[in-house]
Amino acid sequence: MTHHCPSCGGPGSPDRRFGEPFLSCLSCGLRFSAVAPEGAVYGAAYYRRGGGLPKPVVGLLHRLAYGPALRLAKPGARVLEIGCGSGVFVELLGARGCEVHAMDASPEALRLAAERSPRAVFHEGVVEAQRFPAAHFDVIWSFHVLEHVEDPSAFLAEARRILKPGGVLLLRVPNAGSLEAALSGTHWFHFDWPFHLAHWSPRSLRAALARAGFSRAASHPALDYPQALLYAALSALGLRRLTMPVKLALLPLQALFMPLSVALGWIGKSGTMEFRARV
Ligand SMILES: [Zn+2]
Repeated sequence: MTHHCPSCGGPGSPDRRFGEPFLSCLSCGLRFSAVAPEGAVYGAAYYRRGGGLPKPVVGLLHRLAYGPALRLAKPGARVLEIGCGSGVFVELLGARGCEVHAMDASPEALRLAAERSPRAVFHEGVVEAQRFPAAHFDVIWSFHVLEHVEDPSAFLAEARRILKPGGVLLLRVPNAGSLEAALSGTHWFHFDWPFHLAHWSPRSLRAALARAGFSRAASHPALDYPQALLYAALSALGLRRLTMPVKLALLPLQALFMPLSVALGWIGKSGTMEFRARV
């Protein structure tokens, strides 16, 4: 049980958005769990999800999610993805001619990723345990990992240490300051208790990156999980259990919500957010 912020060490007070066991840091605004549940790791089924959607829809979602982030990958660069899951992004990096390293805490995820990308180098466990040399990577990507991490300050410090001068860390996390989170609270798509231990806002993430020694951090719009805004709006109306046929029927409506998601991204209120921080 901790009552101090895992990012800045500030004191926690009861969190009005998510309730127990979450506390809100009075110093940086991070909403963090006072407890870290044992064994809260995704099972094999998590890494095989998405199978219910038609292939063109999955392809479109991948392009939306990863297109702009992928442009940081230059041919020949040594790059790392922290938390590669089943390896969708690792495969895209390999196709760009990078020397690709990838890691994940889940052996099952690594097995799936290695099947996709036999030439990439895979590492199991957390980044602090890998003992990579200092100033080793040109770019590090980490999509939707930091919200799972028990010690985010150690994670960010290690990412900073292993990046070359001028290197970039790209982080993507759910945005607890989003309209979605405000509309749906603990029914938010990204609430995901007990897997998500901390909920970041633009303010708390910017502060954490500065403390870790990154010189500049710029936010960019992220369009992964574009479905979550509509789900949050429906949740606010009391509609919370959506079956796959209903989700498919809602796809045309999703297209209408897309411009709103983009607009919210520019004012720091989108459901997920991306920061690119430089060494
Ligand atoms: Zn804090």
